[in-house]
Amino acid sequence: MSNTKIPYKIYLDENEMPKQWYNLRADMKNKPAPLLNPATMKPITLSELSEVFCEELAKQELDETTPYIDIPEKILNFYKMYRPAPLTRAYCLEEKLQTPAKIYYKFEGNNTSGSHKLNSAIAQAYYAKDQGLKGVTTETGAGQWGTALSMACSYLDLDCKVYMVKCSYEQKPFRREVMRTYGANVTPSPSMETEVGRKILENHPGTGGSLGCAISEAVETASNLEGYRYVLGSVLNQVLLHQTIIGLEAKAAMDKYNIKPDIIIGCAGGGSNLGGLIAPFMGEKLRGEADYQFIAVEPASCPSLTRGVYAYDYCDTGAICPLQKMYTLGSNFIPASTHSGGLRYHGMSSILSQLYHDGYMEARSVEQTSVFAAAEFFARVEGTLPAPESSHAIKVAIDEALKCKETGEEKTILFGLTGTGYFDMYAYEKFHDGKMTDYIPTDEELQASFATLPKIPE
Ligand SMILES: *Cc1c(COP(=O)(O)O)cnc(C)c1O
Repeated sequence: MSNTKIPYKIYLDENEMPKQWYNLRADMKNKPAPLLNPATMKPITLSELSEVFCEELAKQELDETTPYIDIPEKILNFYKMYRPAPLTRAYCLEEKLQTPAKIYYKFEGNNTSGSHKLNSAIAQAYYAKDQGLKGVTTETGAGQWGTALSMACSYLDLDCKVYMVKCSYEQKPFRREVMRTYGANVTPSPSMETEVGRKILENHPGTGGSLGCAISEAVETASNLEGYRYVLGSVLNQVLLHQTIIGLEAKAAMDKYNIKPDIIIGCAGGGSNLGGLIAPFMGEKLRGEADYQFIAVEPASCPSLTRGVYAYDYCDTGAICPLQKMYTLGSNFIPASTHSGGLRYHGMSSILSQLYHDGYMEARSVEQTSVFAAAEFFARVEGTLPAPESSHAIKVAIDEALKCKETGEEKTILFGLTGTGYFDMYAYEKFHDGKMTDYIPTDEELQASFATLPKIPE
């Protein structure tokens, strides 16, 4: 087998695609701390959680024992329109770096929404429809999540209302048009449609908006409309579960050629793509069947794992989702406005947080100019134009490959390439014009944000 030439792209055929998601919590000895009801600060029950999420998703959110969960056929059929996602051997990158390392990446940007977010959007929309709901509301900043949800909702004939941060709505008109093409109702936030939007506009006329404000508008609209729910595109256990399709496919493709990665690298915003990519490998590590090195990569400007605290916090500034114990910078933390490289989320999946806390995973933070340098290098060598978020993983994969060059080790590296950079040309332009700066929050700024963390009664 060792002489078999590994193809540039390893594809699975339809029948080889995973038919179940893998619930990593089932194999964790130390489970993530219980989710808390924001109204009572006590562990949330299934019936309470079912008022926030549709029932099946509430079950998935709380399920820490079922290892495999069947993917409903309708979702599988949707997946088949854009999956399996190819696993690529980065031969050109290896050659350019002159490294003995073998580098693989799993590309999730091969669908119109441009990222892995569609994997969970379709699942969330499906369960909402299945329960007879009329529609969902959400916020979108950069636009990937809103686009993914629009596509999923149109497939299922579900209404979709997206509050898009106003400056992004104006800067990314094409993202907005894609969403409208799929039938979503897109509103720049803050808007006059909601009480919270009107209040913000009164106090800050002309504001470009913020993610926190867009979330609050989406939450308010969902609670005022019969048959609507607010949905979230990352950080929740259910989202990580749906994203395990990435890792399961990657593992199946690698198993086909007897490839075993030594290092698995992913970018971490709320942790859903990273958690999904590493899940089946981490499961083997937790069960003592194999060992892998896992590296989470986050921006130095929004460093939840490397500089955050492990504490209970809100996952959404609207405080409607349950609180979870996670590495967080505080839900009021706002990354510097000079940060354009994505991954701005304040917290981290509670599953990944627990694994990191227990020493199963490492984390690194990288500065955005070095991320864009890696992105550009990668685009020129491998052809694919990467999303800035994904490029955090590229940066560390290159670092690790260069280490192998020094030591002569032939390590196998797998990283997640979560999306395409087509809609991020403003950020690339800033980089090319030399106008991009690096910002690292001071300890004082972080302390000030930690001081606003919710107080949890013992
Ligand atoms: C949203 C997004 C991320 C980060 O989100 P996670 O939940 O941490 O996976 C990474 N890459 C792309 C392209 C995204 O759209």
